[in-house]
Amino acid sequence: EGQICDACVFQAHTILNDEFGISQNYEEPKTKKSSKSKPKLNVLLPQEIKNHLDQYVIGQDATKKTLAVAVYNHYKRINQPTSPDDIEIEKSNIVMTGPTGTGKTLLARSVAKLLNVPFTIVDATVFTQAGYVGEDVESMLTRLLQACDYDTPAAEIGIVYIDEIDKIARKGENASITRDVSGEGVQQSLLKMLEGTDVLVPPQGGRKHPDQPMIRVNTRNILFICSGAFDGIERFIAKRINTAPIGYQTANQQRIERDNLIQYVTHQDLKMFGLIPELLGRLPVLTYLEHLDAHALKRILTEPKNALIRQYQKLFQLEKIELVVTDDALDTIVDKALEYKLGARGLRSLCEAIMTDAMFEMPSNKPEDGIFTIDIDYVTQKLNRVKMNVFTH
Ligand code: ADP
Repeated sequence: EGQICDACVFQAHTILNDEFGISQNYEEPKTKKSSKSKPKLNVLLPQEIKNHLDQYVIGQDATKKTLAVAVYNHYKRINQPTSPDDIEIEKSNIVMTGPTGTGKTLLARSVAKLLNVPFTIVDATVFTQAGYVGEDVESMLTRLLQACDYDTPAAEIGIVYIDEIDKIARKGENASITRDVSGEGVQQSLLKMLEGTDVLVPPQGGRKHPDQPMIRVNTRNILFICSGAFDGIERFIAKRINTAPIGYQTANQQRIERDNLIQYVTHQDLKMFGLIPELLGRLPVLTYLEHLDAHALKRILTEPKNALIRQYQKLFQLEKIELVVTDDALDTIVDKALEYKLGARGLRSLCEAIMTDAMFEMPSNKPEDGIFTIDIDYVTQKLNRVKMNVFTH
């Protein structure tokens, strides 16, 4: 009787899969994980999703709404029993555009947490086309599996957040000298996965290895959220708007500020930027995030459930010290953050620079009245001592 080991079966299957696509009659060996019952989904209404996001994310109302609807439809679709004559609802993968540090990752993470589904963040720039040095796109599913302790059915309804999607834009119309393995090639290799297919995933990541048994993951119900700053996309938007039919060009045109152009972003602009149409077709939901102004940044410091200042107050409170940050101190921090153009991300490093000395000294040298006040002078003094480049990493 001929014998063949598991590893060889998987290897053979991987080869067939790579060559011909997934074989139809392949039976997955029943494992403990894959026999788990369908995971229970916490489906919330769009309004409920938005209300939740409001507690953690300041502003960005347009994106919150779009996201809430897309996520609601996505999970409604999963719960839909399939019947042959049913209209098939397509999956609503999302692409988010907008400057760095404005809440893209935070929104995606908050949604995943609310729905209680596995979530992973991957960086598009680490991937290369299959067969080249770098990570295979399959490795993002490894990460997703790891995020839920290899519970495959849970992973299959999870959310994968692909950051820096703009960095794999194709370079120019004919990048012909070397094959574009890190740009268009990667976009190509994402197509099937985003649409929904069976993928054989190496459990430990890395390259597919002959001795490594693979885990089969179906991506049909995985929600992919792609995100990127798309620096410079405004020029395509501006160009498109300017070449719009005459009737569209009103006096208002001149009033559209450069910063606000992002609100008019369309799939067409992303195509001009260098995302291939096939990829864009699989990312039907497009949304934008706005620059955070001083008002928004100030709110971010204090309002969200786990706002930075609240976190420091909690830390001081554990030392039985009340931390007070004056209003003008907050304004100064915000001004600096705007200066470094890091969005809300700058707030964290600024606060660290301001608070570190106090957090070092306070525990062994508590104030008499139990109150520690950070005012504008204190902020200025601390910030003058640190080098600018601390905040620009
Ligand atoms: P990006 O848009 O680059 O993905 P992030 O979501 O990672 O930005 O934001 C970086 C950090 O800044 C977050 O961890 C969060 O603390 C804060 N932040 C950014 N935008 C917002 C926002 N709109 N509301 C609240 N906090 C925000």
